[in-house]
Amino acid sequence: MKRDPRFDILFEPVNIGPVTARNRFFQVPHCNGMGYVRPKSLAEMRGIKAEGGWSVVCTEEVWIHHSSENVPLAEGILWDDGDIPALAKMTEAVHKHGSLAGIELQHNGYCSTNHYSRIPPIAPSAISVNSYDPVQARAMDKSDIRNFRKWHRKAALRAKQAGFDLIYVYAAHSGTLLTHFLSRRINKRTDEYGGSLENRVRLFRELIEDTKEAVGDRCAVAVRFAVEEFLGPMGITSENEGREIVEMLSELPDLWDVNISNWSKDSASSRFESEGHQEPYIGFVKSMTSKPVVGVGRFTSPDTMLSLIQRGVMDMIGAARPSIADPFLPKKIEEGLIEEIRECIGCNICVMSDQFSVPIRCTQNPTMGEEWRRGWHPERINPRKSDDGVLVVGGGPSGLECALALGQRGYRVILVEASAELGGRVSRESRLPGLAEWGRVRDYRRLMLERLSEVSIYPENHLSAEEIIEFSAEDHFDFSHVLLATGATWRRDGIGRKHREPIQGLEQLPVFTPDDIMDGVSVKGKVVVFDDDHFYMGGVLAEKLRREGHEVLLVTPAPEISIWTKWTLEQIQVQKQLIELGVELAPQTDLAAVHAGMVELSCVFTDRRTERACDSLILISERFPNDELSQLLEVESEKLSGAGIKTLKCIGDCHAPATIAAAVYSGHLAARELQAEPQEEVPFLRERIQI
Ligand code: ADP
Ligand code: SF4
Repeated sequence: MKRDPRFDILFEPVNIGPVTARNRFFQVPHCNGMGYVRPKSLAEMRGIKAEGGWSVVCTEEVWIHHSSENVPLAEGILWDDGDIPALAKMTEAVHKHGSLAGIELQHNGYCSTNHYSRIPPIAPSAISVNSYDPVQARAMDKSDIRNFRKWHRKAALRAKQAGFDLIYVYAAHSGTLLTHFLSRRINKRTDEYGGSLENRVRLFRELIEDTKEAVGDRCAVAVRFAVEEFLGPMGITSENEGREIVEMLSELPDLWDVNISNWSKDSASSRFESEGHQEPYIGFVKSMTSKPVVGVGRFTSPDTMLSLIQRGVMDMIGAARPSIADPFLPKKIEEGLIEEIRECIGCNICVMSDQFSVPIRCTQNPTMGEEWRRGWHPERINPRKSDDGVLVVGGGPSGLECALALGQRGYRVILVEASAELGGRVSRESRLPGLAEWGRVRDYRRLMLERLSEVSIYPENHLSAEEIIEFSAEDHFDFSHVLLATGATWRRDGIGRKHREPIQGLEQLPVFTPDDIMDGVSVKGKVVVFDDDHFYMGGVLAEKLRREGHEVLLVTPAPEISIWTKWTLEQIQVQKQLIELGVELAPQTDLAAVHAGMVELSCVFTDRRTERACDSLILISERFPNDELSQLLEVESEKLSGAGIKTLKCIGDCHAPATIAAAVYSGHLAARELQAEPQEEVPFLRERIQI
């Protein structure tokens, strides 16, 4: 297809100092859990971004010196010449598709843990490290500052040698040494590097100048700068010092990549911020420089992108998450396939992988992180092995993804869904407060499935085991493989991490599960939410019920509310929002027992008991896999083979309840593996340490 000429402007080249980007799509630096530990995986993933049309593809943060590391996080390392070949793999992969490779040089200052190097962290002034480690960073003296400039310069030269076209001087987020110098909260120096704004900016300016002088002949020098820290007048604000800094340095770098800080604000989830949320803060930058400006804001809509360029907010559309969810986003716009964009849902599961130092994963894009180790490509898939038909039972994220990938392989697929609506848990959960964007998991797949003549969808059909066997024999259906994606159901007995036996006395109170609430069952009076799940569900239901006017007490054995949302950068906002809404919070507390009209709570440390009035109890603990069909069919193996059914498999939550990302991945994996060659003992490649 041809693209709409309205979008031509997005495909104009952009000059960035001595280099030229072929279009306006810019993959800004993003972490990925691969870094120096998995360079082949990293190169393949970045190369696919370039293939998908991102004209600039950047690294994650790359530590420039052994006095800055956050091992075991898997970021980039460029400490000496020995680190060049691994990074060169990435630049080769990016150049192969005609894109520019960018590198984000980083010194973490007092936000380095240095557990590995055992070097005391450094900072503009003596200060505790930003974790709870019992360590303080030492104040840099003048020779340290000179050395730091040398390290940065050397790293820039090595980056150039590795083939990078664009080299960042990084002063964004909260964990960079340059940000620490800029900050009057942290920089208490009395020499020419502290005090006035001009003094605090000195090192930033020197670093840009050093880098330009060292590599500026061939490489563009970009700046990444957070114009707003949300720390009030003691921090950088887009009204005051953020603006002044841009003004002071306006023409010095070749490109401004501007954002807000810290990372949780920059990569805000869709639960808290919508597309373009950074514009009110970064919008001023373009008026202060003639250099190209890049910004981010979870942009997935081509119309938004167009408007940003036309209104002069930015010159290049920056993206981390939208490029993870759809590495081919620019190509799809270029080729007029806008509806096929796999839009990021803002769930931040990708962020979690970085924090766990495991290869990046994405709810929407199951191939993310699997490009090298499994050879998966987001837009290409292994063709079918036979003319066999496949039945997929269940149209939740797992079944939808499985049916889609099978259809794309060319298999004839029958997708049967019990309810009238596709999407399973995604449809149900996307109606909860803040989770509307999650519906994109369903919308993308539904649209793509509609376009596949190989796939027939039968909603409003609840299949029994007998029906599956009966139908398989009918010519009209004719399938040889059955994939069960029937999901999971929340438990009603309180069994979960904390209670391995049912909670006592549950019959004495009205008890509800998340399924009940999502089904619209009405809850009365004072509500106690017991969260032993720890991801979003407890917080979201407490929020919903509070907004509906209930008095809500949220009880959890964990030390923080919705504690796992730390990994998706949401925890602080979740807890803050619940406090502000007037939800009463009881962390480190167990639901010990239930009595008529009340719950008995216990301190997780002392077991000291308290009683609280309760009219409705919401239990969020574990889920039962809905695996009845598979159990019934498994015992009928003779009937199955008699009916021509060769394989039967459970996928997604009915196999093992987990995240939506895991359900999508499971569906995709099963589709790729259907009738594929037998796997090696370990079904994916590993980057082994060479001995
Ligand atoms: P997952 O996350 O694994 O995809 P979901 O719970 O989101 O699981 O989706 C499971 C879907 O399967 C739901 O939409 C449900 O209505 C459907 N389903 C469950 N059992 C049957 C069945 N026997 N026949 C048809 N559809 C079913
Ligand atoms: Fe977007 Fe979620 Fe994928 Fe991250 S994991 S890119 S937030 S859809």
